[in-house]
Amino acid sequence: MLRPALLQRMIWPAALLATVGILALTAWAASLQKEAVRHAWDERIDAAAQSAAAALEADWPDEPSESVQVLAHSMAAATGLRVTLIGPAGRVIADSDCADLDAVREMENHKNRVELIESQRSGSGWSTRTSGTLGERFRYRAIRIDRAGEPLGVVRMAALAEQINAAAAAAEKSVWLGGGATVVLTVAALALVLGLGAKPARGLAAAARAMAGGSYDQRQPATGYFRDELADLGASLAEIGKRLAKREFQLHRNWQTQATVLEGMSEGVIAVDAEQRVLFANRSAGRALGFNAQAVEGRTLLEAVRSHELREACHQAIAAGESQERELVWRAGKNRTFEAHASPLPGEPCPGAVLVLRDVSELKRLENLRQQFIANVSHELKTPLSSIKAYAETLLNGALGDPENAERFLRRIDEQSDRLNQLVMDMLSIARLEAGQATLEVTAVPIARVANRCVADFEQVATPGGVELLNPAANSPLVVQADEEALWQILSNLVDNAVKYTPAGGRVTVAAERDGDMAVIRVSDTGPGIAPQHHARLFERFYRVDKARSRELGGTGLGLSIVKHLSQAMGGSVTIDSELGLGATFVVRLPLAKG
Ligand code: ADP
Repeated sequence: MLRPALLQRMIWPAALLATVGILALTAWAASLQKEAVRHAWDERIDAAAQSAAAALEADWPDEPSESVQVLAHSMAAATGLRVTLIGPAGRVIADSDCADLDAVREMENHKNRVELIESQRSGSGWSTRTSGTLGERFRYRAIRIDRAGEPLGVVRMAALAEQINAAAAAAEKSVWLGGGATVVLTVAALALVLGLGAKPARGLAAAARAMAGGSYDQRQPATGYFRDELADLGASLAEIGKRLAKREFQLHRNWQTQATVLEGMSEGVIAVDAEQRVLFANRSAGRALGFNAQAVEGRTLLEAVRSHELREACHQAIAAGESQERELVWRAGKNRTFEAHASPLPGEPCPGAVLVLRDVSELKRLENLRQQFIANVSHELKTPLSSIKAYAETLLNGALGDPENAERFLRRIDEQSDRLNQLVMDMLSIARLEAGQATLEVTAVPIARVANRCVADFEQVATPGGVELLNPAANSPLVVQADEEALWQILSNLVDNAVKYTPAGGRVTVAAERDGDMAVIRVSDTGPGIAPQHHARLFERFYRVDKARSRELGGTGLGLSIVKHLSQAMGGSVTIDSELGLGATFVVRLPLAKG
């Protein structure tokens, strides 16, 4: 609401100004009016004196007489003025204020009266003074009458000063009354006009306030006395409101888009101000660094994330105005490595920074694996290569002449070459499987067929080594959805290991059974078994439980890794079930063929 105080503040100065102006004008007009009244009285007295003088000039009475006294009275009655006729030496001949002739005769000589002296000198005279005869103040006009250059006498007309003053005061009073009425009317008109303007102004003020509060759709129809002037203001206000609403809508939409993009990012994003207070953090950042993204707004970065590295990166970015890169190893919960990128926000002075966190743990892990792999491969290749080189050198250095040893050495060279060959083949298989390049021809494959083929292959090795090979899978009716060669390689690797690690007198069994829509193939042995702490890593490349023994047996450390990859490529899996000293059972699960 437009407070009354404002209205009053608007009225009072205007009213005061108008009042002062009107009063000053009134005072001036009053004094003019007063003068005009006095002037009119003077003219009236003068005109009466002049006409009396003209009338008496021809028949001037030299002596007081009853008839002259009557004449004076009748003149006084006609003009409403006191009439005095005075002889040239100052003797009063008639006076309208004297009751009878005796009174006239008793009047003192008037030659010293101011107006008389003046009229003797210049023909006429004025004076305002208290009458020596009557004791009252009069305004006198004396006109001298001459005949043939000789003064005959003086006609004097007088009005009571009190009467003139009363007329002047009455005129003045009426002017002041008029001025007062004008003041009252002016102030009233001002109040009325402002009052009429206040209502639509109040409406506009309310509309502006509503807009400040966020309600932009304000339309104020202009009404009342100032409608033309306020219509423009109202229209501008409505236009401003429309634009503000549009701007706010655009801002909101932009912000929503940005928020959606930021929330959808896999990278963590944290924006901080110049004091490192969090302005925004997305969910990925919260998840990665273990805080509630919504709850950290307004808190310092260090309170949200206990990392001096990040704080320092932001500080440097803000202070130097340049992007900063850091690697952050986050040890809370799972060990994770982040690449943190802090960029300064644009502006001078720099208003803050944006931190982008990329989880590079997987990249780091892969990098480690790659390095390990290269080390492993070099190591695996080195041993057979050094053996081959050593035997070859020995032969060249003369052992060729010793046929018995020469043959032994050549056999070793052949063995090591086989091993190298096996190693390279296994590595190629794994590389192809890992790269997803191995083309598997998945068809319905009877387990019995592959198990028979495989057991037949290994019987030649197992029997001489004193290991019994049992194959109940030969009678299995199960048909799996698999690539036959891949399944053969899986079983071969497992049976090969089982035969290799099982001492003479032991037993290796290949069995198959159904579990829902999966076939479960078990390759078990009565060998030394594998302690549970190795189970998790057993299927990794080059992982060996007993390195020396594996090499001695011609193993590459890649067999089980190939089994795992092939099983998974066919929609299956492989697990180990073993205790140290109690033999080992490898369990392969593969999907059954439909129908
Ligand atoms: P390798 O070529 O050395 O046999 P694998 O990947 O086939 O490589 O096997 C990995 C390791 O698992 C072997 O080095 C061996 O220590 C262990 N292992 C595999 N099969 C058996 C088994 N049947 N009995 C005991 N240990 C086994």
